Amino acid sequence: MKITSVQWSRVSIPLLTPFKTALRTANAAEDIIVRLVTDTGEVGFGEAPPTGVITGDTAEAVCGALAHHLAPCLLGRDVEEFETLTRDVQKAMVHNSSAKAAVDMALWDLYGKRFGIPVFRMLGAARTKLTTDITISVNAPEEMARDAEKAVNRGFDCLKVKVGVNPSLDIERLSAIRAAVPASVVLRIDANQAWTPREAVRMLNSMQDKGLDIELVEQPVKGADLEGLRYVTEHSPVPVLADEAVFSPEDALKILQLRAADLINIKLMKCGGITGALKIATLAELYGVECMIGCMLEGRVAVNAAAHLACACSVITKVDLDGPMLAASDPVSGGCRCEGKDLVMTEEPGLGVYAVEGLEPLGELRV
Ligand code: MG
Repeated sequence: MKITSVQWSRVSIPLLTPFKTALRTANAAEDIIVRLVTDTGEVGFGEAPPTGVITGDTAEAVCGALAHHLAPCLLGRDVEEFETLTRDVQKAMVHNSSAKAAVDMALWDLYGKRFGIPVFRMLGAARTKLTTDITISVNAPEEMARDAEKAVNRGFDCLKVKVGVNPSLDIERLSAIRAAVPASVVLRIDANQAWTPREAVRMLNSMQDKGLDIELVEQPVKGADLEGLRYVTEHSPVPVLADEAVFSPEDALKILQLRAADLINIKLMKCGGITGALKIATLAELYGVECMIGCMLEGRVAVNAAAHLACACSVITKVDLDGPMLAASDPVSGGCRCEGKDLVMTEEPGLGVYAVEGLEPLGELRV
């Protein structure tokens, strides 16, 4: 099974409500879809959401990476060279982990299709279903309370609340949400790097003193500030999850060695795909640190790939794969089914995706 063409296109997926964090506001997921076409007619699918504020990868940068570095290293090669192929993708250029993730997942998809087995089965998965939280965007406290109530009415029992825009309002926001939902609903928060270390500890203490019962805090301080992160981890009453601080397996190792966080958020777009994510999961397991599987504003191609991985890693105990749940429509056929708060795996070979509707072609390289 040889790769004869690499194609990339744009897909626009409208959101139910605008996605607002301390870093950005988005009204739609505008993602790049990669198709690796083979001489047997099989197609491997990948997806890269350009998330400039987190990964630095813009749509143009993803397309440039595909055209000039990644496609040339794939064309004409046999999918059975899988191990060297996935390695060469990571070595083809520095950075642009999103473009690499799209290509890496498409290779896993093809390899599974080549041998007729789903990727989560190839990885030895012990589970076939995941339950995700859902994001509550940062807004005025009353609006966030309404959004939280709506999410609970949709069946979600774990809310990931974005905070950090005008930090003085954060406690009011969480109090409004806590009052609006049943006590059994789990609240986790994501500050997207907005606080200073001391501010973070003060806020988290005050949240727990007020009985807000926060399960964990995601990336309270700047991603590059590992000492600040460790300070919060050592002094906070709330477990700390590293997100923007951990891209590569090397980053994860550093955090683990420093004990700078209690938990690690693995995202395919930060670590270049399933191949890198497996390394982080293994490292975290060695250090006894549990992980979250997370996503950017992704459609179901990339979220499905993350779900295949997560099903096979018991060290991943928290699931934040709500991309498709935030969308107003789903252009993807095949792959896991989204049923309320659950992602349910299917037994199709590879990653199972066989079509994406509404693609606007942007480029192609062929042998
Ligand atoms: Mg985050």
